[in-house]
Amino acid sequence: MQEIHHLVDGQAKLGTSGNTAPVFNPATGEQTGQIGLASIEEVDQAVASSKAAFQEWGTVSVARRTKLLYNFRNLVEANADEIARRLTAEHGKVGDDARGEVARGIENIEFACGVAEALKGTHTEHASTGVDVYSVRQPLGVCAGITPFNFPAMVPLWMIPNAVACGNTFILKPSERDPSAPRFIVELAQEAGFPPGVINMVNGDKVAVDRLLEHPDVKAVSFVGSTPIAKYVYATGAAHGKRVQALGGAKNHMIVLPDADINLAADAAVSAAYGSAGERCMAISVVVAVGGVANQLVPAIKERMSKLVIGHGDDPASEMGPVITCEHRDRVAGYIAAGAEAGADVVVDGRDFVFEGNGSFIGVSLLDNVTTDMSVYTDEIFGPVLCVVRVDTYAEGVQMIADNDFGNGAAIFTRDGGAARQFQQDADAGMVGINVPIPVPVGYHSFGGWKDSLFGDTTMYGPEGLRFYTRPKVVTSRWPDPSTSSVDLGFPQNN
Ligand code: NAD
Repeated sequence: MQEIHHLVDGQAKLGTSGNTAPVFNPATGEQTGQIGLASIEEVDQAVASSKAAFQEWGTVSVARRTKLLYNFRNLVEANADEIARRLTAEHGKVGDDARGEVARGIENIEFACGVAEALKGTHTEHASTGVDVYSVRQPLGVCAGITPFNFPAMVPLWMIPNAVACGNTFILKPSERDPSAPRFIVELAQEAGFPPGVINMVNGDKVAVDRLLEHPDVKAVSFVGSTPIAKYVYATGAAHGKRVQALGGAKNHMIVLPDADINLAADAAVSAAYGSAGERCMAISVVVAVGGVANQLVPAIKERMSKLVIGHGDDPASEMGPVITCEHRDRVAGYIAAGAEAGADVVVDGRDFVFEGNGSFIGVSLLDNVTTDMSVYTDEIFGPVLCVVRVDTYAEGVQMIADNDFGNGAAIFTRDGGAARQFQQDADAGMVGINVPIPVPVGYHSFGGWKDSLFGDTTMYGPEGLRFYTRPKVVTSRWPDPSTSSVDLGFPQNN
């Protein structure tokens, strides 16, 4: 069983608090590792290391930072299979999902490699006689990132490359459930040449998070996780004077209009609802079927579900792995029971699937005729459960999205350009898909939802990420009339 250390100041450090947390392989139920949960003192050591490293890193040339980011990008790409293997071993996701996660993470390093262009300031000559005004963006200092279990490689890479590209130092506190992949990524950053202390990692739970939120030397906190914790992190960090971006949970809707390509919509619904066992903040969990479209769509989804291969993530044939823990599996099963009890039609019941061994597997579920008062609709289940809500009109579907507390992603499937364009206006969500079920923006745009899916005013990565990790400074300069200069500038008066 491996001990997964903290990484502080370029050194692997064994936890000393005496508090530990187990790490499991969800496909087997076997404990494969253990982390030490950082104490306040251990977090303080990491912050002190990051603060000391910032003294130099904050002024390292853009050319040098860019070179190290390119090294880092190449190392992550060269080690993508090993990162993916660790994702499968501790999260459970299948090989394709794991490799896809690494690829999306690399996009963010590539964006940060362009920091020289992206961080150019602005300059106004002759704002007044002899007066120039220019704006620059400077780093904040020590930044912290607190990340969820479901994308243990990609979400840290939403944060780290932009933060350090801007000249900040960074402390990662990954999810305690699957820390091996993020730790390996931080090791690769060290190998790439980032100096000790520029990127530190501490394992921990609420104790570590609270200390990061309260520590006066931490200037900014990026958080991704569930809505209640996002709210807490936002409020606590802000109360301690930090800038905070806190991304929360989701309940993403996919409206299917009567004119949609049924095969396209059914394929999309299946991959977006059950990929990664539904443990994606951009998973589709509600299909809003307009008019009579459900009569064709529900059988088409059901037919595809019967072909899904569920199994261990390291089996290349598997298309869906287990959920993260057995407790979570039982929670998902509870929602299916509650939906049935409340009157939904359980078209496919994930509880009926039989799995051998002690893994936290559950089958895929499809519930039809769901209504918006059922817990299977109102709550983020974060498992392989898809609800179908039938409505008569497009307007009812749009209103349903507006009435939902979450606002991460929303998608529409239609062949009608006018309807698609209208939806782009109407959708009460931060990321919109048109015939795309999971509209995760590419690395050179930015990611973030609305309403209870994001607290703070800056979304994550891309241009917004650079804005979050820098603060503006405006310089107004005046120089004397050149004709009065003591240096000979060719004016008659100079002589
Ligand atoms: P979580 O909120 O339980 O944990 C996230 C992080 O917060 C972890 O590092 C954890 O150690 C820490 N944490 C947990 N409880 C805490 C507490 N009481 N005080 C302080 N820190 C605490 O989330 P999770 O279960 O790891 O991840 C799944 C959730 O993340 C889902 O709700 C999902 O929608 C959300 N998520 C959102 C996005 C997004 O971009 N909006 C992306 C990925 C995941």
